[in-house]
Amino acid sequence: MTDIKSMTIEELTELVAAMGEKPFRAKQLFAWMHVNRVRTYDEMRNLPGKLRSRLAEEQPLLTVRAVQMQESARGDTRKYLFALHDGNMIESVWMRHRHGISVCISSQVGCRMGCRFCASTLDGCVRNLTASEMLEQIYEIQRLTGERVSHIDVMGSGEPLDNYDTLLRWIHLVSHPDGICISQRNITVSTCGLVPQIRELARERFGITLAISLHAPDDLLRQELMPVARRYSIGELTAACREYFAETGRRISFEYALIAGKNDGAEHAEKLAKLLKGMNCHVNLIPVNPVKERNYSRSAAPEVRNFQIKLEKYGINVTIRREMGADIDGACGQLRKRYQDAQNDSGAGVQESRSGMNLPGSGTGHP
Ligand code: SAH
Repeated sequence: MTDIKSMTIEELTELVAAMGEKPFRAKQLFAWMHVNRVRTYDEMRNLPGKLRSRLAEEQPLLTVRAVQMQESARGDTRKYLFALHDGNMIESVWMRHRHGISVCISSQVGCRMGCRFCASTLDGCVRNLTASEMLEQIYEIQRLTGERVSHIDVMGSGEPLDNYDTLLRWIHLVSHPDGICISQRNITVSTCGLVPQIRELARERFGITLAISLHAPDDLLRQELMPVARRYSIGELTAACREYFAETGRRISFEYALIAGKNDGAEHAEKLAKLLKGMNCHVNLIPVNPVKERNYSRSAAPEVRNFQIKLEKYGINVTIRREMGADIDGACGQLRKRYQDAQNDSGAGVQESRSGMNLPGSGTGHP
């Protein structure tokens, strides 16, 4: 099935031409889908009735449907569990910051990268998302909250560079001036470090920020935490990052999840500092979110602070990720996992979480 909301204006032009329509209809269609973000063709009032009914028959407008929402006690973070048209579930997170509103979206159903501390990967990758499903997470959250989203992180479940062509298509659509038009400067794409794709992405010269999930300063430790490190060494990864910066002029952001007694010692900080010294980058320290299937625990506040100080001594830009939503299964994939486990346990419908609420069905096209 073709997916009309994933199509570029050029592709839409071909589609309407094949239906005997003028090219300007493609722009109208694009605006209805990506600016007005209507859910039915009936609402596209300036399109001829004949075209609307033909599209409704041949090109279903797929949407995502929120089935659960959890809000943090402070009210600045909301986590949504969305059902896709085929019944698969994904998560997205809405966050209010001083500088605006960000949404963290998923790029795959599950993930096949196998990082040891991550809940998204526990059951492997079910399928890639489409560009339209990546957009819909933002559109639906904007519909539900009524507030404009200013920043997007592709940091939810899935490995975006493992769904590479879709990622490129999504960046094109989400930053298109005739669509929702989110500045590439406000988009961060996070990867576990697929080196060939980082090199390829560099050549696109997007204005986005690339975040690298590093989590360890040497190959041995990284291989223990992240299977992908067996494929690409830290040396190859940092070389690709340097190339990315040289091509795009965009500073790389390194993610480092601090795990108590594992990667949070003074010796790790020192190694990391030496590795990144002289590089135009930023380090984001994240106390790891414990996942019940794994026995990793987060570093205590003094260790986190010491780690930061050590890096700063070497002149490295470093911030500690503001902890948002740890009280609502904040880590990637935990809400979806819990929902699935609950369904398996009870063999029945949705289990309501203590801090969450079930949302009423929001409309069209879902089984
Ligand atoms: N696959 C991509 C994007 C999704 S994961 C990547 O690896 O970057 C988004 C970020 O959350 C990554 O930095 C990932 O390593 C981190 N992460 C996953 N599980 C976590 C956990 N339990 N605690 C803290 N960070 C976690």
